[in-house]
Amino acid sequence: MLEPLGIFGGTFDPIHFGHLRLAEEALDHLGLSAILWIPAGQPPHRGAPRVTAAHRLDMVRLAIADQPAFQLDDAEVEAARPSYTVLTLERLRAEYGWERSLVLLVGADAFAGLPTWHRWQDLFGLAHIAVAHRPGFPVEPAGLPPALAAQFTARRIAPSGLGHQPAGGITTFAMTQLAISATQIRQLLAQGRSARYLLPAAVLDYIATHHLYRNA
Ligand code: ATP
Repeated sequence: MLEPLGIFGGTFDPIHFGHLRLAEEALDHLGLSAILWIPAGQPPHRGAPRVTAAHRLDMVRLAIADQPAFQLDDAEVEAARPSYTVLTLERLRAEYGWERSLVLLVGADAFAGLPTWHRWQDLFGLAHIAVAHRPGFPVEPAGLPPALAAQFTARRIAPSGLGHQPAGGITTFAMTQLAISATQIRQLLAQGRSARYLLPAAVLDYIATHHLYRNA
């Protein structure tokens, strides 16, 4: 059986080392063969991103260029409709078939918000979910919305179980805790302050060249 394939969606406005370490540690801890990075075109859960999808895609491409296990998937950006994860997973199932283990990677904050996602209960039939710990967002049933806590308790598996079935499990993994957020980076840049060492230098150079995130 092929190793599980990781799927990592986000706004990436901009991509930073929190995202990159999450993906790198997921590869390592979860035994994934590769990770598909899927920048959202029009994220349905939040306000419009500060910069265009084309810029966010370019920044992800630059940031992941030297890790061959990271691949960019631009389909959500190209699609004219809102970026619903369930539709993305259905597309990937059509592409990869139903045997392959697919693992949706989310940070703990994103996981807690899962019940607000379009057709969220259908996600479990399409992929596993692997939740990365994030500073300030403990992953415990008591802290989750009740419907999600029930799913979490019923579906919890060890990372080693991800390859044994194609979908349906929920696992958690510890990652180096980095309290970096794109919000913080946008604020620093809007104030003309330094965001160095929070994100790759190539991405900061891109931001400077294209005059992005200048004003709040
Ligand atoms: P924003 O501050 O604009 O909300 P963000 O930094 O949370 O952005 P997103 O693009 O919204 O980044 O996040 C994509 C995914 O990465 C989500 O699943 C989120 O939980 C996860 N993530 C982002 N930053 C971190 C971090 N520092 N540690 C762990 N997970 C993270």
